[in-house]
Amino acid sequence: MDFSQDYVQIINGKSAPTEQTRHGVNPANKQALPPVPVATQQDLDNAVAAGKAAFETWSRTPFEERQKATIAYADAVEAHSAALVELLTREQGRPTEQAWMEVGGAPEWIRGLASIALPDEVIEDNEQNTVLNRYTPLGVVAAIVPWNFPIRLAVAKIAPAVLTGNVVIVKPSPFTPYCGLKLVELAQQFFPPGVVQSLSGDDNLGPWMTSHPGIDKINFTGSTATGKKVVQSASQTLKRVTLELGGNDPAIILPDVNVEKVADQIATFAFLNTGQICLNIKRIYVHEAIYDKFKEAMVKSVDGYVVGDGSQPTTTHGPIQNAMQYARVKTFFDDIEVQGWKAVAGGKIEESAGYFIHPTIIDNPPEDSRIVVEEPFGPIVPLLKWTDEKDVIERANNTVNGLGASVWGKDLDRAGKIAKQLQAGTVWVNTHFELSPLAPFGGHKQSGLGSEWGVDGMKAHCNAQVLFFKKTAA
Ligand code: NAD
Repeated sequence: MDFSQDYVQIINGKSAPTEQTRHGVNPANKQALPPVPVATQQDLDNAVAAGKAAFETWSRTPFEERQKATIAYADAVEAHSAALVELLTREQGRPTEQAWMEVGGAPEWIRGLASIALPDEVIEDNEQNTVLNRYTPLGVVAAIVPWNFPIRLAVAKIAPAVLTGNVVIVKPSPFTPYCGLKLVELAQQFFPPGVVQSLSGDDNLGPWMTSHPGIDKINFTGSTATGKKVVQSASQTLKRVTLELGGNDPAIILPDVNVEKVADQIATFAFLNTGQICLNIKRIYVHEAIYDKFKEAMVKSVDGYVVGDGSQPTTTHGPIQNAMQYARVKTFFDDIEVQGWKAVAGGKIEESAGYFIHPTIIDNPPEDSRIVVEEPFGPIVPLLKWTDEKDVIERANNTVNGLGASVWGKDLDRAGKIAKQLQAGTVWVNTHFELSPLAPFGGHKQSGLGSEWGVDGMKAHCNAQVLFFKKTAA
């Protein structure tokens, strides 16, 4: 398979060309990338019909066979890693080394999920009754993927769907369609036609999918604003929904940390992927006793970053992925002057060949400022001072988001006690953004609904069905 050209959508096992095409843009140089299809409503109807037909057989295929096909798919994804890395950097902007992390994690995620079976649960078993709880697949799943992790988030939606006996239609983001389309094309070698399909569309396609009566579940990752529209639309047919949405993760730094080391790690997690991760650290609360030293150390790390084209070996931070996001992040930089914030690293955007912005730290802005309250989804982060433990916990929790949070300190008891009071789906002590396909991942509050991965994520692709055998009645 050639990953460098011929990007097609797959309906019922075959390429489904469209009259209209569109294209993505390489964010490092704003050059047009190759054409991709623009799906019509008829394409969606065809994919749903093919999915429904495939579901008849696939849902009755034994788990072990579905598992075997899925693991073979993971091996194939791994075998094509180098081509995927190159394509990911070109369409997403991520530096090569970090692209390897995303691509390398893809087969690991698929295999991890393939290790989770959902056997029937015996609720009661005696001379009179046997009562079982079974997990039966839902039908056609729509996997709606954002532009920041086009590979990991696609495979992490494909695998649980097909393992649980569902069929899946993958919709990559129009900003980053290329890797997603190739992943689905590759899947055709391992799954029967109609089991794993793709649609490549413009902004119409997502709403068509969420309102389509033939789709049974929406597995969505994206912004909180879009997530609300998804629920509204899906409610018309009571589709099952899983929503992985935006975050505004706090990190609380205790006074006993190794300042140099932790400041460097915090900078890494704040600016990884140029601040375009739902789980970037987005508010950094540093104890006042070490605030100045910590700030200095963090600035030193950030000043050493090399922002540029991700395909260059020296680049540590790539561009913002697209023009729309670049324009939004710029509004936070405009506010530096308007609001009188103090930038201690970065702070200015210079126009260039790509959507480049140097990582920027804002020194102790007011707690109610936009940079603290909103998710910029770009390389700009507030450093905030705290003195009282109860107060910093309240500030950390004072957000509509609840995706991730972390506490950093040598005193693990104290850090653990604080961690347990934070309102977030994943809370770390002395790290951030470490995930596992075996652990449920989801957001509290407006960061999501339900969870992906782990046993819970698999169950979210199923109806629970109770089978009640009355042994004595007949
Ligand atoms: P987005 O909400 O704009 O788009 C996400 C996907 O939804 C894209 O495929 C898009 O085409 C589609 N879409 C857009 N409008 C739609 C609609 N009305 N109905 C159905 N689908 C629609 O998000 P984005 O800008 O691509 O991604 C960035 C956001 O995603 C950030 O807020 C980030 O925090 C969040 N995110 C969350 C997670 C998580 O796991 N919680 C992971 C990555 C990103």
